[in-house]
Amino acid sequence: LIRMENVEKYYGAFHALKAVNLTVRRGEKIVLCGPSGSGKSTLIRCINHLETIRSGRIEVDGTTLDNTPKTVDAVRREVGMVFQQFNLFPHMTVLENCMLAPMRVRKVSRSEAEATARKYLERVRIGNQADKHPAQLSGGQQQRVAIARALCMEPKAMLFDEPTSALDPEMVKEVLDTMVGLARDGMTMICVTHEMGFARQVADRVIFMSDGAIIEEGEPEAFFKAPKHERTRAFLGEIL
Ligand code: ATP
Ligand code: MG
Repeated sequence: LIRMENVEKYYGAFHALKAVNLTVRRGEKIVLCGPSGSGKSTLIRCINHLETIRSGRIEVDGTTLDNTPKTVDAVRREVGMVFQQFNLFPHMTVLENCMLAPMRVRKVSRSEAEATARKYLERVRIGNQADKHPAQLSGGQQQRVAIARALCMEPKAMLFDEPTSALDPEMVKEVLDTMVGLARDGMTMICVTHEMGFARQVADRVIFMSDGAIIEEGEPEAFFKAPKHERTRAFLGEIL
């Protein structure tokens, strides 16, 4: 579903992604981890063209990104993204937040957008908060709204960039549970997270990045038990 081939990304002179190759099959769940500054956010932001790459190729569901609005829009329709900071629109209600993109981008009717929004708000167990504004919700609730909002576009894949790292500890679980539910439903997911319990539970593959490159990857069991690379061991030693 997602393919990155020899992707190189620079910020000015800074080499942020180095020959990144990654293929994600339909339904696959990837956990991406690595030290701060290793390029995790950059990698997933490249997939929906929030960042422009220098060279290489990125393909999503048969569309190769080529900087044209046509391919960028096509990819963004199919790929939902959830950020560390929830990025909800503060002046809109929860329901309106969820209805906006489907109406604007997918051109669905207001009534259909509302039905879809209510369905996914129920799914993330927050249906009773639909008429509140984001500021009236807890962090965990806001993040679940952000997930519901992304799901309202009926994406084929979801990208998560440290969705729980801005949350108070007691709210982490409700968001992780929502993500586990999504994984169980068969969603294709790339999750940047240091929640290794989550990785063990749902990841098909754990990928470790360091200095802009993918250093190591494996099934969670093997990855945690017997990391091959010295840098992976050092990293796991710090976070586990
Ligand atoms: P963290 O765990 O702290 O979120 P990360 O692995 O997500 O880190 P990135 O945000 O992808 O790392 O950043 C990778 C490198 O690129 C860092 O050295 C960062 O300083 C640099 N970088 C990121 N965004 C920009 C930008 N807009 N302009 C210049 N440099 C950037
Ligand atoms: Mg990051």
